[in-house]
Amino acid sequence: MTRVIKKSKDFIKLRNGKLFSDKSVGFIPTMGALHQGHIALIKKSLKQNDITVVSIYVNPTQFNNPDDFKKYPDTFNQDLQILKKLKVDYLLHPNYSEIYPDNYNYRIIETDFSKKLCGKFRPGHFEGVLTVVMKLLNIVKPSRAYFGEKDYQQLQLVRGMAKAFFLDTKIISHPTIRTKEGLALSSRNLRLNKEQLKVAPEFNRLLKSRLPINEIKSQLKKLGFKVEYIEKINNRIFGAVYLGNIRLIDNVKI
Ligand code: AMP
Repeated sequence: MTRVIKKSKDFIKLRNGKLFSDKSVGFIPTMGALHQGHIALIKKSLKQNDITVVSIYVNPTQFNNPDDFKKYPDTFNQDLQILKKLKVDYLLHPNYSEIYPDNYNYRIIETDFSKKLCGKFRPGHFEGVLTVVMKLLNIVKPSRAYFGEKDYQQLQLVRGMAKAFFLDTKIISHPTIRTKEGLALSSRNLRLNKEQLKVAPEFNRLLKSRLPINEIKSQLKKLGFKVEYIEKINNRIFGAVYLGNIRLIDNVKI
């Protein structure tokens, strides 16, 4: 049975109680519209822990574009069915005042890597991400928390935060789950129309192509993508593009 908990203090009470004593807890924070990418993280947690907690919370402070927030897909009933079927123990489903009793007056700021790649184009994004992740980790106090490599910069920043603030939670990553054409699964893909869905896998194909960055950019533009950035850092190539007004990100090891 999946128990749905909406209040932060109810969850804290529960995890301080008998049900959680001496048990390992795995936690997967999400913004819902669950797909096989989320499901892979959840299955890993179910295997590695006694108790698995998933959160669904569309965090407004990480959206720099109000339209993107407004249009973020909401498939809550379907999500709950998926969690029940997987036998996830708890779903934490808070609202704004449960997460931000301080009205976002207190924040976690990283001053270096968060200013690069996505951070350069989405001011305040990683401040919102790190703040909400810190709050959720403090509510759930998991033994392990699971993050996808699809959001590689986010994963690195969360790892860095866990280390910087001596968090007890072990941060565990999972490779990106893709369609068979190579498109990284993402909740935002639900907003792509048929033509956009057809061209979207070209993004991953070009990132993997080993072509020079300028060539990748010009081919993407020819295919109708608007390129935000394509950048190589160490042995990984990162990119963010738009199809219409839908933003896609991806990264591959090279
Ligand atoms: P989101 O709901 O988009 O905030 O994602 C919640 C978690 O699932 C994050 O740690 C993401 O990196 C991870 N995730 C999202 N899409 C994928 C994917 N295609 N493959 C692996 N992990 C993913």
